[in-house]
Amino acid sequence: MKYIDLRSDTVTQPTPAMRVAMANAEVGDDVYGEDPTVNHLEALAAEKLGKEAALFVVSGTMGNLVALLTHCGRGDEIILGDKCHTFRYEQGGMAALGGIVPHTIPNQPDGTLRLADIKAAVRPDDAHFPHSRLVCLENTHNVCNGSPLTSAYTTQVAMLAHSRGLRVHVDGARIFNAAAALEVDARELVKDVDSVTFCLSKGLCAPVGAVLCGTADFIAEARRARKVVGGGMRQAGIIAAAGIVALEEMTSRLAEDHARARRLADGLAALPGVRVAPVMTNIVYFNLTQDAKVTAAEIGTRLAARGILLPPRGVYDFRAVTHYWIDDEAIERTLTALREIYA
Ligand SMILES: *Cc1c(COP(=O)(O)O)cnc(C)c1O
Repeated sequence: MKYIDLRSDTVTQPTPAMRVAMANAEVGDDVYGEDPTVNHLEALAAEKLGKEAALFVVSGTMGNLVALLTHCGRGDEIILGDKCHTFRYEQGGMAALGGIVPHTIPNQPDGTLRLADIKAAVRPDDAHFPHSRLVCLENTHNVCNGSPLTSAYTTQVAMLAHSRGLRVHVDGARIFNAAAALEVDARELVKDVDSVTFCLSKGLCAPVGAVLCGTADFIAEARRARKVVGGGMRQAGIIAAAGIVALEEMTSRLAEDHARARRLADGLAALPGVRVAPVMTNIVYFNLTQDAKVTAAEIGTRLAARGILLPPRGVYDFRAVTHYWIDDEAIERTLTALREIYA
């Protein structure tokens, strides 16, 4: 049975074009800098993000870790949102492996950090305190309804950070979703920041990988950090080939996923006892209210029996994510199944 898998955009299988590109990829030893396909992907990624250089890494988590290890030394502090992926879902790698201190401030519902909160979090030069080195933003903000952060906002944060001698890293796992939602070029969204990571393996459908972008000097240092965390891959062109297809063919279609997410949200909102959060990109958060007639667990089980993977994430809460393998029919089938479960 072919499942309708709404759990995440990480479940995306590679496209047929990616499989062809992988089979035919020209490869070499990337630790020696000799893999032409990796080199091509890195140049393409740098160009698409408007940065001097780029580094192919295993995952978004590795990209963020390598960025943080490169920007910061042991005992340095990072200012980041309390709901951001790097703080919540990356196992505290910055502290475990880098001795870096996370200084969290509240993420606002739209995924931003208040400028005043950032300002207040920057440490004065005093022997009691760690050195503040970096501000991290997340775009789109996964937990904050997949919200895109605007270019104007990011520029304000960068100006503030730079004026205090701090750098800025963007966890742009879904930066191309942000660009599609805001109808701007991805370069615009990161033009004033020092580094950015994005994932190839989510909405862009590649089987593996992420890319870290920044200045040539920064990326040269990051290449060392990638090696020490075991991310020096050899004939990695096999997987980089899929990443090239991802960048060339998949970034321009993300608005389709966003439109389907809105259709799903509209259908959900029409069900009694369901509250749907605003949908900005490909992520739909919804929850059951007190008057819902079925439990979240029951919905998850009954959808699964119909070939639809959408398990609850809490007692009342769900998150559905649209992607390349979710077509119009999949949205209709999901809504029909939910209406039946409710009837
Ligand atoms: C998925 C994700 C990551 C981590 O990417 P992996 O490739 O799964 O390690 C980082 N940040 C955000 C916002 C993500 O959604």
